[in-house]
Amino acid sequence: MNILTIAIQKNDQVVSASYELIEAAKQLSGNIVTVVLGNSISQAAAELASRGGGKVLSYSDERLRFFNDEIYTNIIGSIIEKHEISLVLAPAGFYGKALMSRLAAKNGGKMVSEVSSISADGENIVVSRFHYGGSVVSDITANGEGTFFVTMRQKIYPESNEGQGEVITETADESLFASRTEVKEMKTESAGSVNLTEADIIVSAGRGMKGPEHLHIVRELAESLNAAFGASRAVVDAGWVSYSHQVGQTGKTVNPKLYIACAISGAIQHLVGMRTAKTIVAVNKDKDAPIFNVANYGIVGDAFEIVPALTAKFKKELQD
Ligand SMILES: Cc1cc2nc3c(=O)[nH]c(=O)nc-3n(C[C@H](O)[C@H](O)[C@H](O)COP(=O)(O)OP(=O)(O)OC[C@H]3O[C@@H](n4cnc5c(N)ncnc54)[C@H](O)[C@@H]3O)c2cc1C
Repeated sequence: MNILTIAIQKNDQVVSASYELIEAAKQLSGNIVTVVLGNSISQAAAELASRGGGKVLSYSDERLRFFNDEIYTNIIGSIIEKHEISLVLAPAGFYGKALMSRLAAKNGGKMVSEVSSISADGENIVVSRFHYGGSVVSDITANGEGTFFVTMRQKIYPESNEGQGEVITETADESLFASRTEVKEMKTESAGSVNLTEADIIVSAGRGMKGPEHLHIVRELAESLNAAFGASRAVVDAGWVSYSHQVGQTGKTVNPKLYIACAISGAIQHLVGMRTAKTIVAVNKDKDAPIFNVANYGIVGDAFEIVPALTAKFKKELQD
């Protein structure tokens, strides 16, 4: 079986989720092929090869600097055909979702999104994914003809750090650059802060923080832990923070080691996005708030007192 992992880069740096895919692929017995597309990607390709990426196909071109659905689909679609790929893995983030649905349609394959584990059962690949806000887990077997496309939830597999690999520098055929759109610029909204989907620790604020003027209390806790800053939809809808911070069904799905929910009730649509976090800490003044049903540690009390106390404690502990 030939397995293709799609490495995602930002500013020609490969994001950590790409190495998690390689680790997932290593658990299956197959030949690993990794593709990376960017402006000047040779160094990133070398790292992928040294960390188990197998045959690393490296495409450097100015027109590949920014993610473009059509061009990326054309190039990766041609790789799937040429290398007779049976399984394609991509991270279940923005790029992975956009790419894989296009690729599955173009190459006539099967697709499952937001997968939390992958294994082989004889000739077949079996994937698991959550449904109904994480209360049901289903195993899905892919059989029959056609390539299988899988987007993997992040932070479930560890990053691959070693293994076999060789870089193959490729040049895409001119015809594959045909696109109806051109991406001229990419702006990072939260420059300098930690990316939510890649973060090991997330501290999130809910409507119980009462207004945007109080959010610094939660941000300071996040900063003390070098954590990403998240929010409930109520906070985003109220215009206190931008959508990029939203966790949940209509926001980001996250899977950090630690998730601290400050004055968030724990509506099912919020839980869908964060309940697989390894450890959940909730601060809420209502002891019956549903967030406590999923929390490993619950603190019943006023977030305006407890959150600054936690910040002071972490700052002291981490400085000492
Ligand atoms: C289709 C759909 C999609 C949705 N998608 C999302 C999504 O992606 N993400 C999401 O988050 N929501 C989503 N929602 C909205 C969701 O249903 C909830 O309305 C939302 O999560 C509530 O946000 P909240 O917990 O911040 O606010 P609230 O539910 O108002 O909770 C505020 C909490 O703060 C506590 N509190 C108040 N004051 C304090 C204090 N001083 N100290 C401590 N605690 C205090 C209260 O006890 C309460 O539990 C969606 C809804 C729908 C219908």
